[in-house]
Amino acid sequence: MNSIKIEEILDCTDGKLIKGNREYLVSNICIDSRKALEGGLFIPLIGEKFDGHSFILNAYKKGIKSFLKDENHNIDLNFDDINVIEVKDTTKALGDIAKFYKSKFPINYVGVTGSTGKTTTKDIIHSVLSSKYKTLKNEGNFNNHIGLPLTVFNLNNEYECAVLEMGMSSFGEIEYLANIVEPKIAVISNIGFSHIENLGSREGILKAKLEITSNFKENSILIVNGDDEYLRKLKNKNLNYKLKSFGFEKYNDLYCIRYKMDEKGIYFNCAVYNNEEEFFIPARGKHNIYNAMAAILVGIELNLNIDEIKNGLLNFKSSKMRLDILKNSLLTVINDAYNASPDSMKAALEVLGEYKNNRKISVLGDMLEMGDYAQKGHRMVGKYAKNNSDIILTVGKNSEYIGIQALDEGFDEKNIKHFKSNLEVINYLKKILKANDVVLVKGSRGMMMEEIVEFLNNNN
Ligand code: ATP
Ligand code: MG
Repeated sequence: MNSIKIEEILDCTDGKLIKGNREYLVSNICIDSRKALEGGLFIPLIGEKFDGHSFILNAYKKGIKSFLKDENHNIDLNFDDINVIEVKDTTKALGDIAKFYKSKFPINYVGVTGSTGKTTTKDIIHSVLSSKYKTLKNEGNFNNHIGLPLTVFNLNNEYECAVLEMGMSSFGEIEYLANIVEPKIAVISNIGFSHIENLGSREGILKAKLEITSNFKENSILIVNGDDEYLRKLKNKNLNYKLKSFGFEKYNDLYCIRYKMDEKGIYFNCAVYNNEEEFFIPARGKHNIYNAMAAILVGIELNLNIDEIKNGLLNFKSSKMRLDILKNSLLTVINDAYNASPDSMKAALEVLGEYKNNRKISVLGDMLEMGDYAQKGHRMVGKYAKNNSDIILTVGKNSEYIGIQALDEGFDEKNIKHFKSNLEVINYLKKILKANDVVLVKGSRGMMMEEIVEFLNNNN
């Protein structure tokens, strides 16, 4: 991070200097006193469990001299060498400082949102852009009103591009993030069901995702999955920005003509503005062709040539617990325990279905935060579970509807079992596992399905 003056922090946060020196230079931003570094600015955030104001002395002891505080807290630090700035809301101030800091770097910003596949798409775009530009990205899932500003502070003069994932659970959140980042290019991966509880309907989800365009200028570009039932409708609208789409349907600006997969990854041919090109990405699942196509379009818009794009895809490394395929002497385990929604369940089950010569076991946990759609959403997955598994094991509450739907569609009842806990699943698996089985494990984050993956990995 480049240093910023206390004066600048006062300006951009509309803060009041309670004590200190306007010329003092802050060299980093810190919200966690355990990670405090000398010379930083400590921003005490107020969370559900902790109030950062309680850790101010700890931060001081680690060499922090500058502090924000909110108007309802007093800081009793009787040291002469400190700067204290009062703001209305420390979380909002974190965003204000990030927006100010970001404005010092007029590079190309790419924002990524969507119901599923944000992190993967962001990581693939990063791989692609990195073959030409030094590119910043959020680490892991740092995609909210705290993680995204913190990511922005990693910018320095060396960066030429930034690709930033933006997550949300209700209206206004993407707008808040887009206002900080002001992306020139925005990508929406799809409109699914995640957080439908807060957003009312899929139209509501579309509206919330489109907040990513709220700071768009005339030359800004929105890149969407044009096969998506909701996003494709944008093509008929009068938009005051550029729209590009990708998918398998021929009407898309970039479309996939054919593909094949092997253990190493996916080989896919696309029509790229009248030319056919072959690409390869070391990842599994048809959904990753969509994610890769989003990245190809971003690459084209940011002036990469086709070889740079191909090399970028080649260098992609998928993150942990997202369709990680692990083999031991007995089993193949498809670890997709990171999270789940109906779309990603479908994607993962289709990967399982590719193992034509093995017995396929799907171990599926609840998809959370689905509100009134819970039953319908789980039933939707039932169809894909039926088509791609030999044995369906579900765990939790609503996941039972996956099995019920599979049964309704004619799946053999004796190969469907529902359990209440991961431990019960593990005990059942101990009885039935055979050599060469392929086991898919997937559920929402809160289901902690990695417990089952851990058992499977040690069972050899
Ligand atoms: P989160 O909301 O937790 O940030 P995310 O949107 O970042 O999730 P990823 O972490 O990239 O999503 O992917 C989660 C899972 O969704 C993956 O393991 C994969 O199974 C599936 N997935 C990834 N891309 C897509 C896609 N384009 N369409 C459907 N499913 C996808
Ligand atoms: Mg993510």
